[in-house]
Amino acid sequence: MAQQAPLLSVVRSEIRGINIFGKPVDQQTRCQHWHSDLDIIAIKFHCCEKYFPCFSCHEETADHAPTVWPKAEFDTKAILCGVCGTELSISDYQNSNNTCPNCKSAFNPGCSKHYHLYFETDESLVNYIR
Ligand SMILES: [Zn+2]
Ligand SMILES: [Zn+2]
Ligand SMILES: [Zn+2]
Repeated sequence: MAQQAPLLSVVRSEIRGINIFGKPVDQQTRCQHWHSDLDIIAIKFHCCEKYFPCFSCHEETADHAPTVWPKAEFDTKAILCGVCGTELSISDYQNSNNTCPNCKSAFNPGCSKHYHLYFETDESLVNYIR
């Protein structure tokens, strides 16, 4: 987390009519927590079915604890490419090789370290809340 940098101001973000909740700072789903060139996806949370740029955005602005997508629902469209506005299903995203299948933009490969915060994984059975 880039805590040393001055915080970018939160903007109202809407991509192709889809509202981005949390603390977005641009129109490509970057947020106050993650805003490198590669941070261009938002994730729809299973609990509230709203798109947030990251887990911290949900934690700081939602009034409830998050739930993860169960494997049985991995065909739900829950990943938004901030560059072209395409919605991917969770399995499409996990098989995308960190590249948008539509616009070929590169996604942050580091996101895979956080899958357990959003999706059911074998580890998430243990403990997904920090
Ligand atoms: Zn939620
Ligand atoms: Zn965030
Ligand atoms: Zn795209």
